[in-house]
Amino acid sequence: MTFPISMLRVAFLWTLFFGTAFAYDKSIPVLCYHRCGEEVKDSMTIKTKAFDEQLGWLISHGYTVIPLDTAAKYIKGEIQSIPAKSIVITADDGHKSVYSEMAPIIKKYKVPVTLFIYPSAISNAKYAMTWDQLRELEATKLFYVESHTYWHPNFKREKKSLSKEEYEKSVHAQLYKSKATLEKKMGHGIKYLAWPFGIYDEDLLVRAKEAGYEMGFSIDHHHAKSSEPLMAKSRYMIIDAYTLKRFESISSGKEDK
Ligand SMILES: [Zn+2]
Repeated sequence: MTFPISMLRVAFLWTLFFGTAFAYDKSIPVLCYHRCGEEVKDSMTIKTKAFDEQLGWLISHGYTVIPLDTAAKYIKGEIQSIPAKSIVITADDGHKSVYSEMAPIIKKYKVPVTLFIYPSAISNAKYAMTWDQLRELEATKLFYVESHTYWHPNFKREKKSLSKEEYEKSVHAQLYKSKATLEKKMGHGIKYLAWPFGIYDEDLLVRAKEAGYEMGFSIDHHHAKSSEPLMAKSRYMIIDAYTLKRFESISSGKEDK
């Protein structure tokens, strides 16, 4: 019976020096991808091979890719424990290469991925997936769709160019219309929001909460933490210029300041 006693002693000493035994900032890396391709034509694309290597690296180094929903509950304190090396994968914008390039790799490694989608592009823009493709991906149980506003506005620019009334109307539409459309098209509740271009301010954070989102995500390049605002949890945008070494330092938290 020495083991439980020593555990109790550790807990007692921890409480003595650090206050409550659970008073620490819960954090987890959340990766943000956009599109994949054989060639890198823009800053949002990473080589398909690099994406495959990164996922392979995570699995072979003992990481567990957990669903965003599980991570959100952990950060909020609704779940007390997750695997030691947990990480979350998200992909923004609903580009067709998510379906053609990324999905086969995600299926190969069988890891959960959240897709942040802006509905105006789906089954509409040439570069985007269709609703059928999104539903097909969700049917694999590896993908889950969440909101990236309605048409991906630049809120910073809109705030400057629109009248106060027009801007407020736009923000309302972006948050509510996206949620309602995605819920109707995908047939499930929408709980999470990713800010387009990672742009947010205090006012937007309040409005997102009012619209019924349970958590929002930025691209502020550090781990998502319980101490951050609920509607602005950070993610790491992964770009092609990152070597596997850089990817390792992001995933392991070495870069988290
Ligand atoms: Zn985006």
